[in-house]
Amino acid sequence: MERRKVTFKLYPTAREGERLSGWIRLHCELYNAALEERIDAYRKHGKSINYYDQQNVLPEIKAARPEFVELGAHALQQTLRKLDLAFQAFFRRVKAGQTPGFPRFKSNKRFSGFCYPDNCGWKVMHPGGRGAMIRLGSGKDAMSIRARGQHRFGKGAKPNDLTIMRKNGEWFASVTLRVSDEACSRARTAEQHRGIDFGLNDWVTFEDGKTIPNPRFIRENLPRMVDLQRQQARKKKGSCRYKRLGRQIANLHEHIGNVRRDFIHKETSRLVASCTVIATEALVVSNMTRSARGTREKPGRMVQQKAGLNREIFSSGFSMAHQMLAYKAVEAGTRLHLSDTRQLKPSQRCSSCWEIVPKKLAQRTHECPHCGLKMQRDQNSAVVVLIDAHTPGTGVAARPKPLTRQRAKSRPMTRETPATAAQGA
Ligand SMILES: [Zn+2]
Repeated sequence: MERRKVTFKLYPTAREGERLSGWIRLHCELYNAALEERIDAYRKHGKSINYYDQQNVLPEIKAARPEFVELGAHALQQTLRKLDLAFQAFFRRVKAGQTPGFPRFKSNKRFSGFCYPDNCGWKVMHPGGRGAMIRLGSGKDAMSIRARGQHRFGKGAKPNDLTIMRKNGEWFASVTLRVSDEACSRARTAEQHRGIDFGLNDWVTFEDGKTIPNPRFIRENLPRMVDLQRQQARKKKGSCRYKRLGRQIANLHEHIGNVRRDFIHKETSRLVASCTVIATEALVVSNMTRSARGTREKPGRMVQQKAGLNREIFSSGFSMAHQMLAYKAVEAGTRLHLSDTRQLKPSQRCSSCWEIVPKKLAQRTHECPHCGLKMQRDQNSAVVVLIDAHTPGTGVAARPKPLTRQRAKSRPMTRETPATAAQGA
């Protein structure tokens, strides 16, 4: 049994929307009250309250405030659990010597939604061929909300939990389904072995020099985003015009996000279906979030350009692509090889003679002084990771996370030059 998440867009009527908003308000109130209770108990009595203490007073709350009853007992518990998680995360980080922020009170506007942690109090229905209905509550107070969305797992999929979210004035229902392994599997269309390199200019460069460009929509809308943000910066904070621009920016962000997610879903599905081996660099988070400003001793250059929107918008797509590749590769039976970037250095290594050829980020071609190979930079990295995937034993192959014990130990950097035959495969 696997778990898969499916998101439906909800189209509540005005009255249903009002009611949902009211429910979110109550969940938010509960969250804030529970947070206050914890703070008070600690300040006044030096006592800490845990999740179960708070869960046990829920029946009293429901007796005093009957409007909480229709939200469902488990959904209320889940909101308390959400607070408990916030506290756990806070204490974990304190213990680790970090300086986390204390769990905050949330305004109703920022409270994103609520969750039914199990399969009761709601139902997904597929009355016609397409579309769906999400039914919340039971009896005559139940609310059936029109929804749009579908999944490929067939009738055998069992709904497990439901999250109702409000985002940017729109409503979504995210359902976790329990799906059999067979229902997950993907059909194979080809048996290729491919090395891929993710980049900013082209989304993906393959080892044969072919590319998948970034979707045009994103490129075209970046200037508009910059323009809107600039306009907003000139308005008085909190004014009508400021808010209006804020809404426009949020809409554009959402739209770009939607287009990008759709694009990444389609391309990763196609990749795993057509490949038996996919090689790429493991995603190093510190690389992605490294500040362009550099350190005090070694300030970065071109800070504005690097830290720009470009980077923010594209880089968040890489981790999404990696996540999708990871689970889709399993579904399609594709081997996903993740090279260790720091040990392999795909962008610095010559794909023909395996020497390290240092180059700056701006240098877009790989020119090897040792063997004379001249190749487009990203293509060279794609070839290098593909060779790495085909070379068992020499390195870091196929292990996304080294064991902790091994991580501390520095490995000698001797690598065999791979047989040239491996390249042709
Ligand atoms: Zn070379």
